[in-house]
Amino acid sequence: MSSAPHYDVIVIGAGSIGAPAAFYLAQKGLNILVLESAASVGQGSNKKAIGGIRATHSDPAKIRLCLRSIEIFSTWHQSFGEDIEWYEGGYVYVAYRPREEQTLKDLLIKQKSFGLNIDWLDSTGLLRVVPDLNPEGLLGGTFSPEDGSASPLLAVHAFYTQAVRLGAEFHYNEPVTGITVEAGKVKAVHTPKTTYSTDLIINAAGAWANQVGQLTGLDLPVKPDSHESAITESVARFLKPMVVDIRPTPGSSNFYFYQHITGQIVFCITPNPNNWGYDCDETSEFLPMVSKRMLEIMPRLANIRVRRTWRGLYPMTPDGAPIVGRINEIDGMILAVGMCGQGFMLGPGLGELLARLATNTTEAEDQIILDTLSPYRSFTGQELLK
Ligand SMILES: Cc1cc2nc3c(=O)[nH]c(=O)nc-3n(C[C@H](O)[C@H](O)[C@H](O)COP(=O)(O)OP(=O)(O)OC[C@H]3O[C@@H](n4cnc5c(N)ncnc54)[C@H](O)[C@@H]3O)c2cc1C
Repeated sequence: MSSAPHYDVIVIGAGSIGAPAAFYLAQKGLNILVLESAASVGQGSNKKAIGGIRATHSDPAKIRLCLRSIEIFSTWHQSFGEDIEWYEGGYVYVAYRPREEQTLKDLLIKQKSFGLNIDWLDSTGLLRVVPDLNPEGLLGGTFSPEDGSASPLLAVHAFYTQAVRLGAEFHYNEPVTGITVEAGKVKAVHTPKTTYSTDLIINAAGAWANQVGQLTGLDLPVKPDSHESAITESVARFLKPMVVDIRPTPGSSNFYFYQHITGQIVFCITPNPNNWGYDCDETSEFLPMVSKRMLEIMPRLANIRVRRTWRGLYPMTPDGAPIVGRINEIDGMILAVGMCGQGFMLGPGLGELLARLATNTTEAEDQIILDTLSPYRSFTGQELLK
């Protein structure tokens, strides 16, 4: 063991969370190794994300983390010279029935209490923001102009590049297959290639987090739930915000779509019931189901051609919120798992927080987040808009 190379922190997983975490840890001057089972950065759920980024949640932890993420995403190009395709188009949640109007208005009170820039617009106001919405039956909706989108592929690569520039090492095709804990303290990490010595591990293994947890006897409540997405051909800009419809219909609970800065419409649906498991084969049900719903609220999309569909994994927790924090029973084990459908937008803010957690430099505000996302919470709460 003494000859094993030593790292201050070993991050498991080079995805939406692991890559920014490595960057902010390296910024603290720490000696970082990221171990990734895939052949390059972002090959897990990260590249399956459609790029939506919002701070307008109902949970204070996610709000705080995503407000910081938006600051980072929106200034990345000017700070580091890499264009990650940030676009401040906002988010619109539409209401076509009194029930959704009430839900969104109730939520708005909470969101406004956190100082979020979000408002209710009546149908006339909403049609000014999204002129192509079907006006028939439209009651209005919420609009949060400071939310936006970016490219998950470019962003994860940007964090990776900057982390490497600061000295972080990324080892690919090296799945973590063992973890040595001695007298309650993390000592080493094993891969099929070799052993690395360390005092601190961050489990950022996404939908595979429980397998990593089980290497130390932890049973983490993180389960993969597969979601499907698609992208169209590129067309001239006609849609600014992400449009979300939360009305449940048979087979799905909500759907959302936006026009990426490069012109394509990217869209997703939330299956109901969940599709538990690791199956990522595309289905024949997805496109007919989602396109019918999209055309109902935006008939103009009828002639746009779909280029590709794909399916990826949400790392789900029982209450829909991430699990972040130190494990009391294992000195040197930090969890950053269970990002559900929001790991891309949480990544930068959470990466910074993980760097403070690892260096015992957390601030008062961090404690509120860590309490909310604690691995020791009861997991009974449910956020209104997951
Ligand atoms: C269709 C779809 C659309 C989405 N849209 C959005 C969106 O608009 N906005 C948003 O914020 N989020 C979105 N998400 C969710 C987002 O993709 C995830 O929440 C996020 O990528 C999870 O980040 P992560 O770092 O935890 O996991 P990942 O990005 O999957 O990273 C985990 C990494 O760990 C690696 N790994 C696993 N086991 C091991 C091991 N034993 N050893 C070493 N490495 C290991 C994996 O290979 C993987 O690269 C979407 C997801 C899907 C499927």
